[in-house]
Amino acid sequence: MKIEEDSLEAAFGAFCKKAGFRKTMPRKIVYRLFYGACRHLSVDDAMSIISKRNPELREESVYRILKDFEKAGYIRKVEVPGVRKYEYASEKHGHFLCSKCGKIIDVDISGITVPSALVDVSDVSITFNGICPSCAKRKR
Ligand SMILES: [Zn+2]
Ligand SMILES: [Zn+2]
Repeated sequence: MKIEEDSLEAAFGAFCKKAGFRKTMPRKIVYRLFYGACRHLSVDDAMSIISKRNPELREESVYRILKDFEKAGYIRKVEVPGVRKYEYASEKHGHFLCSKCGKIIDVDISGITVPSALVDVSDVSITFNGICPSCAKRKR
């Protein structure tokens, strides 16, 4: 996906101001990873993308930035049991986890209704397990 440089810069600036972060290159690099993309990235995933263009950025720094960004509400942990990944903190959605390749696919859960007796539902995390379309194709 092509990222608009201007809108990235503006969004990053606004985010740093609100969260009280100094605008630094490492932060911007990590910010860019999740900007406008429904990606699910572990620290390793993030490192392998980053190291292609910015090999000087150390894993400890990336790890710390991810933690800071999580606290600031920009990203959140993907709520899939056994998975340690982050995603952009977009609207709540469920996840499909492929048991063959480990791929995670977002699932729209807005149509799911909660029994009306349960009035104090404060959070939701739904994981579907199965075989993703590309693994299913390979099997045939
Ligand atoms: Zn798969
Ligand atoms: Zn997701």
